[in-house]
Amino acid sequence: MYNILVRESGRKGETMHYLDNSATTPVLPEAAEAAVHAMREAFGNPSSQHRLGNRAAALLKESRACVAQAMGAQPGEVYFNSGGTEGINTAVFGVCRKNFRRGKHIITTAVEHSATLNSLKKLEGEGFSVTRLQPDADGHIPLGQLEEALREDTILLTCMLVNNEVGACMPVGEMGRLLKRRCPHALFHIDAVQGFFRVPLTPAKWGCDLMSVSGHKVGAPKGIGAFYMKKGVALPPLLYGGGQENGFRPGTEPMPNIAALAAACRVRAAAFAEDCEHVRGLCAYLKAQVAEAFPWAVQNGVNDVPHVVSLSFPGCKSEVMLRVLEQEEVYVSAGSACAKGHESHVLRAMGLPKERIDSALRVSFAPHNTRADVDAFIAAARKGAAMLRR
Ligand code: PLP
Repeated sequence: MYNILVRESGRKGETMHYLDNSATTPVLPEAAEAAVHAMREAFGNPSSQHRLGNRAAALLKESRACVAQAMGAQPGEVYFNSGGTEGINTAVFGVCRKNFRRGKHIITTAVEHSATLNSLKKLEGEGFSVTRLQPDADGHIPLGQLEEALREDTILLTCMLVNNEVGACMPVGEMGRLLKRRCPHALFHIDAVQGFFRVPLTPAKWGCDLMSVSGHKVGAPKGIGAFYMKKGVALPPLLYGGGQENGFRPGTEPMPNIAALAAACRVRAAAFAEDCEHVRGLCAYLKAQVAEAFPWAVQNGVNDVPHVVSLSFPGCKSEVMLRVLEQEEVYVSAGSACAKGHESHVLRAMGLPKERIDSALRVSFAPHNTRADVDAFIAAARKGAAMLRR
């Protein structure tokens, strides 16, 4: 249950049950307050040489330290940007522009976010070759495939940490070690958007050179993210302008968004262990309730993190179920929000039959969810299934 949203539901007295937190999360009150403070009190330009500028610069420094800690990084390794899509583009195009003379081979997985898939498609058109590792039926990438795919001309491995549709974790530690042993010059980018505050981030331990996270998946507003670039790695920037973010991401810093991201990190970090335990309990409760109410329903893949579960309700088309659930103020998604009604490339790559793909629902939790949200989902899904499986 999330009471801030009740007002917007338009149905008086009803609580909204928001279970689509892998698509985006509601902004935490602390993050909203930090943004308002930055807009009203610390509105100066961090580059200005006066007291107001200094106040904004101090807020920027403090925010960077806070976000760096959440990313398992040093402050000097963190660059604020607009989110996951920009981070992925920065990594992919930056590495290729810098290292194309060394080689033109890139390795990724078939289950990445469209920001990765479409960036790489563009590079293929420019003469780069891309190997896409295929998942098994659980959604995991077998390490042996990476071993086979590595080549002398491999310059980049880019892989997500947690899959946004099924919640499978990728073996990034083993991948990083293998890459560095076989292709020491190749760089490793991790799309950690769905792993941020789901699992601890340890880029140095993973052999990771570059990493992307996004604010709106952790209670900050949309349009803010952070990019990790390991000390000593120097990529060309995507944009050219002033010297902000060490010249790597120029443009006047969006202080309200930056302060909000830092505030969200502070809240999430303070309650991380407790939140994970809570979400683990909710996920177990959901699975038990689904097994009881819909013994014919199936889980797609393995969710190594409890925050996201993909379930198929054969005979119940996802789009129709979404509408029925919505009428009951229950919000989930059919797959990734970015896929917008297209068949899931993730479930397809996992080799699932069409009927399962067409009836998949993704339930994704954030710490604010409660058992009442799960109960509302089950009750609404019962209505939907009774209508659709008549
Ligand atoms: N990577 C993954 C795994 C995602 O789930 C998303 C967003 O859904 C992105 C990247 C893109 O992030 P953003 O919305 O901040 O551009």
